[in-house]
Amino acid sequence: LQPRLLNITDILAELSHLLRRLIGENIELKMSHGRDLGMIKADQGQLEQVIINLAVNARDAMEGGGVLTIRTAIEQVTVERKSKDEAMPPGNYALIEVVDSGCGIPPENLVRIFDPFFSTKEVGAGTGLGLSTVYGIVKQTGGYVFVDSTIDEGTVFSIYLPQAAEEE
Ligand code: ADP
Ligand code: MG
Repeated sequence: LQPRLLNITDILAELSHLLRRLIGENIELKMSHGRDLGMIKADQGQLEQVIINLAVNARDAMEGGGVLTIRTAIEQVTVERKSKDEAMPPGNYALIEVVDSGCGIPPENLVRIFDPFFSTKEVGAGTGLGLSTVYGIVKQTGGYVFVDSTIDEGTVFSIYLPQAAEEE
């Protein structure tokens, strides 16, 4: 692992061709980013793994086609925000949102999706390790993950990563 100062916009630009190939022809990829996202400190391969795992899940959730949106922004969080296990402290974060227009996640599954080996896919279609890997990497990077999902409308994964000081 080599945590380095990374520019999320650059990494998403580098990944865009791979992502387009991964999601196939019948899913539209929309990427939008705010200007000057600042830097985060993370291992590049791990950050890519997070985005790829979320994109593959989004693809699987949109069998009949749909839209995958990846958007980034700087978020100045001013009040503590409750997440599943740990509250997110106020501060400056880079936010990466992966949004699909797919099947959604039923509430009874939402509490389990980050568990290793939890999968609703057929044997061979998924290992159930994608989101537990995402969770582990985000935690290791000092970040937080939130999910918001509506059945038959889609799902939003929000990844907050603490902004790193440039001079570090
Ligand atoms: P896998 O993809 O191998 O099943 P993951 O850990 O990546 O394992 O995801 C676990 C489960 O969470 C999936 O099987 C699926 O039920 C659900 N899930 C994850 N992402 C999405 C999504 N974007 N839309 C709907 N369901 C999802
Ligand atoms: Mg997966």
